[in-house]
Amino acid sequence: MPFSIDAAMALLDKEVRHYQVPVVDLVAAQSKDPFKILIATILSARTKDEVTAAACRRLFKRIEPPADLAGLSVAELEKIIYPVGFFRNKAGYLARLPGALREMFDSRVPDDVDSLVKLPGVGRKTANLVVTIAFGKPAVCVDTHVHRIMNIWGYVRTETPLATEMALRAKLPKKYWLRFNSILVAFGQATCRPVSPHCDRCVLAGGICPQIDVTPRKMPGNKKNESKGDAVKKIVSWNVNGLRAALKNGFLDAFAELDADIFALQEIKALPDQLPDELRNIRGYSAFWYPAQKKGYSGTAVFSRRKPLRVLYGLGDKAFDHEGRALTLEFDDFYFINLYFPNAQPGLKRLDFKLAFDRTALQFIDRLAQEKSVVVGGDFNVAHKPIDLANPQANEKNPGFSPPERAWMDEVTGAGYIDTFRHFNQEPGQYTWWSYRFKAREKNIGWRIDYFVIDPGSADRLVSAAIHDNVRGSDHCPVSIEFK
Ligand code: SF4
Repeated sequence: MPFSIDAAMALLDKEVRHYQVPVVDLVAAQSKDPFKILIATILSARTKDEVTAAACRRLFKRIEPPADLAGLSVAELEKIIYPVGFFRNKAGYLARLPGALREMFDSRVPDDVDSLVKLPGVGRKTANLVVTIAFGKPAVCVDTHVHRIMNIWGYVRTETPLATEMALRAKLPKKYWLRFNSILVAFGQATCRPVSPHCDRCVLAGGICPQIDVTPRKMPGNKKNESKGDAVKKIVSWNVNGLRAALKNGFLDAFAELDADIFALQEIKALPDQLPDELRNIRGYSAFWYPAQKKGYSGTAVFSRRKPLRVLYGLGDKAFDHEGRALTLEFDDFYFINLYFPNAQPGLKRLDFKLAFDRTALQFIDRLAQEKSVVVGGDFNVAHKPIDLANPQANEKNPGFSPPERAWMDEVTGAGYIDTFRHFNQEPGQYTWWSYRFKAREKNIGWRIDYFVIDPGSADRLVSAAIHDNVRGSDHCPVSIEFK
């Protein structure tokens, strides 16, 4: 039966009346002030509704009337809105907002998308939402829920939220433009969730929804769902320091033992055709390779049980991409980014190159995080804090612990990304790399330089993060995370 948008919207319109109201609608119901709605919308990006609602309450207490925003410094704003996702960036946007409105729009919030996107921190999604909610004007506001659900229904077949917006502008009947975003956000948060949607209790199941590319939530006793499905639960990252050498040292046994849905490798130092078939074609996995142009150097690879929608090779910057250091898999609900950061080299000879890579990598991560959740795994080649290496004082000016490298890690966590291992474990002596010299591994004189970092939106599905220091075969050991 072809999918009917009218039937779906009629059922959902009734259904979501019992659901929690999305935070921006809530702010709109409490205040008709477009300025407050604009602020709530900026804060809500990549942040859970309850966190946004609390931040709005604290902020609106301080800025009554809203023009008071101009009197708050970035540091004060950071303090007030913490812990919304990317609170540092957002505090900067809010601090610049009154001036931008004054200069461009005579201190009024504009009511059209093209004007709104000129404001700091306002992308198309935010602009469309403000036009709809603050001004009651029809606009097509597409966030990750709308993009995902419209594709599950097969109503559009698109790869990005922007493409979905364009497709919906041409196809979605105008009578739904005002309400469909609120309905689908509420529905996407409560029932048609990005991971394991509740098809078991969905009003659209069993007739209306074609469930394209969906793995429904496992229900106890539901034999049909007892296989592993294609949900990504466990991800492993390992700098193998030469895949051919690691193979001789039990790589395939470790691979089987760790039993990951995604297995990311750094420093493979090989071309795929230099590797044996048993490795290139591991049963149940698709393999993606990104070797460096220079033979026997650097390079990354990813094995994935779940087929990605798209694979991105590199960071899109010629200065770095010949070294094969970034390999990204896009799935419908998240990006997995495998990164191998350069070493700053003795005497910090390559520090400038490394810092340039750091900056480009963070911009790349930020860009993808605007679209959907991001999970970044790899060898970051930096120990963040003194607790992350055995001899911090002796290494203060050395590669991997120099102040500028560490400052970049501050920037990453300051932007709201989560160092998953430290999220669970504050113990010293937890390392992922040891020098081959001086029996460093036996004495546990090591460094924690391999990480999994996730965006705040992924935090509530994270259940563990681990270092597998019992696994040999490289001077690094594997690290892993598990999701619900
Ligand atoms: S049936 Fe499942 S996939 Fe389809 S809309 Fe409902 S929850 Fe989403």
